[in-house]
Amino acid sequence: MLRRLILSAADSPGVQRFVGNYGMRLGASRFVAGETLDEAIATLRRLNERGLRTNTTLLGEHVRDAAEASTVVRIYEEVLRRIETERLQTNVALKLTHLGVTLDEELGYANVEHLVAEAARRGNFIRIDMEDSPQVDVTLRIYRRLREAGHDNVGTVLQSYLYRSEQDLESLLPLKPNVRIVKGAYNEPETVAYPKKADVDAAYRRLVERSIADGGFTAVATHDEKLIDHALALDPGPERMELQMLYGVRTQLQLDLVARGQRVLCAAPYGPDWFPYLMRRLAERPANLLFFLKNALGE
Ligand SMILES: Cc1cc2nc3c(=O)[nH]c(=O)nc-3n(C[C@H](O)[C@H](O)[C@H](O)COP(=O)(O)OP(=O)(O)OC[C@H]3O[C@@H](n4cnc5c(N)ncnc54)[C@H](O)[C@@H]3O)c2cc1C
Repeated sequence: MLRRLILSAADSPGVQRFVGNYGMRLGASRFVAGETLDEAIATLRRLNERGLRTNTTLLGEHVRDAAEASTVVRIYEEVLRRIETERLQTNVALKLTHLGVTLDEELGYANVEHLVAEAARRGNFIRIDMEDSPQVDVTLRIYRRLREAGHDNVGTVLQSYLYRSEQDLESLLPLKPNVRIVKGAYNEPETVAYPKKADVDAAYRRLVERSIADGGFTAVATHDEKLIDHALALDPGPERMELQMLYGVRTQLQLDLVARGQRVLCAAPYGPDWFPYLMRRLAERPANLLFFLKNALGE
């Protein structure tokens, strides 16, 4: 209930203005690696030094025109270049709507294909995030097309809250896909997504089991310790599975898992357009909202 309320409030221009002006100071910096690439690089290096692999994302989604998408592509080229020169253990996760896919599917494909090729040239990897349910078909279509074009340094994401995801996984398995499994972060209607947490968690387990049994590489992206233990018990080894968590969430658990010898990636996005990302993190855990409000009152 509160989750839906926060996600709806996120659409209000007043909330956007207030949080946009004060949010970084009030607590967004807990979840965001920095507003600039230089700040993000420093954060990524610190995480690497603590034994965590990392990924980064230029925060943002949905561009207005092809020129804006092209600017995003140029920035990701620079991100890939800096990762290489700074010798970071960091890959890139991006959103297709940020590359213009809703304007024109071919434009989105050409932009992501260019970045996947650029990443390959630099020995790096691109993960295509999964956005809200209207984007699932096009995201999977583009992932399949990239793989069929011979790109294997690319992965995608399946969300266990969607009824369709198990079927989507089955149809990807012949490609030996690299999939990240998440519960799902958007406000989806009951017509497409399980409303009950128990069903989302049960589907999560099934997706992880199936992906580990017959997929290529499985990224188990959750902060839910029961689901992490379930994945670790399947024990496919670090060549075939990685645990993934978000920057600023369950940091001690991330470090404890590293200390136990597990392969852990911390997803650390950056950029000035952090508002919708922050709202999704607040919606996931109302206690984060209290943390945010306490900071606001303390100012
Ligand atoms: C690396 C990574 C990549 C992701 N990529 C995508 C994507 O491409 N598409 C997508 O839809 N979603 C994505 N997500 C978000 C995901 O769908 C969930 O919304 C998010 O991970 C919270 O669910 P959970 O699995 O941690 O389980 P939950 O049941 O929500 O949480 C389990 C426990 O983790 C802790 N926790 C969870 N979230 C928070 C938080 N924000 N702050 C503090 N504690 C928290 C709490 O202790 C909670 O009890 C990603 C998540 C991760 C970790």
